[in-house]
Amino acid sequence: MIEPLIIKNRMTKEERVTLYKVALNRWGPTAQWIQTFEELGELMQSMSKFYRSPNKTTRTKLVDEIADVKIMLEQVQVLVEDISMEELSMDIMVDNQMQFKLKRLLKRLENG
Ligand SMILES: [Mg+2]
Repeated sequence: MIEPLIIKNRMTKEERVTLYKVALNRWGPTAQWIQTFEELGELMQSMSKFYRSPNKTTRTKLVDEIADVKIMLEQVQVLVEDISMEELSMDIMVDNQMQFKLKRLLKRLENG
């Protein structure tokens, strides 16, 4: 049996946000937006390749690209929060929207 890979000293959300702010200061918002677009493109490509040919190699690539996109989406939230005029944090707003959409999906499935 393969031992699961356990990464020790995981970064908390707070530590990640601090890191994103350092990255944002270093490279600026435009570079971070462009990086996000590129990562989204890479994810689409890796999904297509996995769908066409599901194997360990394409799955590893897919995992890699999902991680990249999740990191960039967290950065986008930090970026948007910086220029936001909302009272609520992006985290809470995104979570609320997810809850709304999940409940709508549940209702659709229950109603056949
Ligand atoms: Mg990538």
